[in-house]
Amino acid sequence: MRINPVLLALSAEELPESEYDRIARAFKAQVGNSYAATECPFFSYSCAHGWLHVNSDWVAVEPVDEDYRPVLPGKAAHTVLISNLANRVQPILRYDLGDSVLQQAGPCRCANPLPAIRVQGQSAEVLVFHTGSGDRVTIAPLAFATLTDRAPGLQMLQIVQTAPTRLRVRLQTQGADSNRVWATVQAEMKRLFAEHGLDHVALERAEEPPEQSKGGKFRQVVPLSDRPRS
Ligand SMILES: [Zn+2]
Repeated sequence: MRINPVLLALSAEELPESEYDRIARAFKAQVGNSYAATECPFFSYSCAHGWLHVNSDWVAVEPVDEDYRPVLPGKAAHTVLISNLANRVQPILRYDLGDSVLQQAGPCRCANPLPAIRVQGQSAEVLVFHTGSGDRVTIAPLAFATLTDRAPGLQMLQIVQTAPTRLRVRLQTQGADSNRVWATVQAEMKRLFAEHGLDHVALERAEEPPEQSKGGKFRQVVPLSDRPRS
């Protein structure tokens, strides 16, 4: 391909942090991102520091917790509500985007005064645990996104919460010793959980491969609250 792009923009799905640099180096171009929805296509655009600035003069943004109470900047919100102020034909008011976001506390280094957020993944895929001292800790699905890079031979990974402190890990490997892949995945996950004070979370390797949900969609993380009851 003989192209010389100035900007590469993501149109859907998320990208692990490290991939932005890799793509930028490969094409010698900037990698931009936007986060939006059909209900509000102009919602936000990324800045050079990796934050998504919300066009808050055209859309009202409200990061909230599970009970739809406001969440302050600097704290991870369960989901985010948006009200499109530009669409007067079909009002979209406090629409639940269903993604866990983090709003930046204080001004952004890029000097853009608009509020800035980071998207941490779908709320339905956020794992919730409690530490030994009873603190509630959430782990966003993006935390596992780099595992496939760090474990050579790992093709696909699915994490199913089977009990409050137990995770079942389904692996699909290719061209690698699956025991070795599991050892790497286990070590990386243990390190991640230890960083969050969750050393007591047990990991078990599943015999079955990653599975699709009934609707045919693949979810990398299936939290306890979402498991079908049998
Ligand atoms: Zn910025």
